[in-house]
Amino acid sequence: MGDRIFLSSPHMSDEGYEQQYVQEAFDTNWIAPLGTNVNEFEKELAAKVGSKSAAALSSGTAAIHLALKAVGVGEEDIVFCPTLTFSATANPIIYQNATPVFIDSNYETWNMCPNALEEAFQKYPEVKAVIVVHLYGFSADMDRIMEVCNKHNVTVIEDAAESLGGYYKGQHSGTFGEYGIFSFNGNKIITTSGGGMLVSNNEDKIKKARFWATQSRDQARHYQHSELGFNYRMSNVVAGIGRGQLKVLEQRVEKKKYIFEFYKNELSHLEGVEFMPVNDCDQPNYWLSSLTLKGDVRPSDVMEALDKENIESRPVWKPMHTQPFFEKYDFIGTGVSEELYMNGICLPSDTKMTERDLNRVVKKIKSLWLNK
Ligand SMILES: *Cc1c(COP(=O)(O)O)cnc(C)c1O
Repeated sequence: MGDRIFLSSPHMSDEGYEQQYVQEAFDTNWIAPLGTNVNEFEKELAAKVGSKSAAALSSGTAAIHLALKAVGVGEEDIVFCPTLTFSATANPIIYQNATPVFIDSNYETWNMCPNALEEAFQKYPEVKAVIVVHLYGFSADMDRIMEVCNKHNVTVIEDAAESLGGYYKGQHSGTFGEYGIFSFNGNKIITTSGGGMLVSNNEDKIKKARFWATQSRDQARHYQHSELGFNYRMSNVVAGIGRGQLKVLEQRVEKKKYIFEFYKNELSHLEGVEFMPVNDCDQPNYWLSSLTLKGDVRPSDVMEALDKENIESRPVWKPMHTQPFFEKYDFIGTGVSEELYMNGICLPSDTKMTERDLNRVVKKIKSLWLNK
């Protein structure tokens, strides 16, 4: 058996940028809390995506939580959320004691369906916020989604945890809504080992988010708190890793794209195979190469065969409205997300993969069609 091939694992720069910034943190004893790396990482990321300001936080989930708080989402509020996503998109809605309503995907983007969204507004005219996700680094239909949300005067939060480095119509993913969030979890396109970022053009709200994230300490020598606080700030060591990783973001996107196109060239002729669509408006970061299988070879066949070869793959996200914890909440749609889940598979998209690794993956997959 060959070496393990991962779905998406941490990939530090060849130049050792991350270690240089971490070393600086050690040298200045700015280990924690905060310090230069945190401030600079916020500035550098904001500049990279073209947002006015950013708050570095302990996770992407924390960023979604503070975005909801900044919008004022609270008890009895309804928040629209895509059903085809990771649970971290939906959990913070519950942290705020609000109610999620799950919205179906469309086949064109695999992301939130603008028609289902409009239908949801007919049923729930009073909505506090809409969360949009860019699954696997591929953009939702932002023109139509923003049009619908603006018409109903509702704030958009972009969960761009998976899409850092991607663009829609030349504009950075995560900068269309009032708030955008990114994740630097271990499997994301760049990682700090764990962390997240909240971005917005509303600098006052970002300041407020930093305040909440550091236990809501009022301006006073004694410890005074007039609001509920959270321990959500990113550490200065972790931010150093982030600054180094940001320098290689474009390189990572390039490699992810190469991997996607390699698979597409090698596999799209196989019966029943359909890759996640790349739309004209979209310049994805290609975080995970994903496809659906509608022929005799099922996703479980592929996952089992790859697993035997020490190659990691996984199903497409299981829709939130079908999760035991979330199934009591309403769902608007026709079942596109369930079909994508039943037929979908994410192939290993690790940027450290060599040409040989890629060939190992496609050879194994192709063999399943030969045996049919
Ligand atoms: C990873 C991820 C998150 C959560 O980010 P963390 O940094 O792990 O908290 C949120 N939403 C989506 C879609 C993700 O993939």
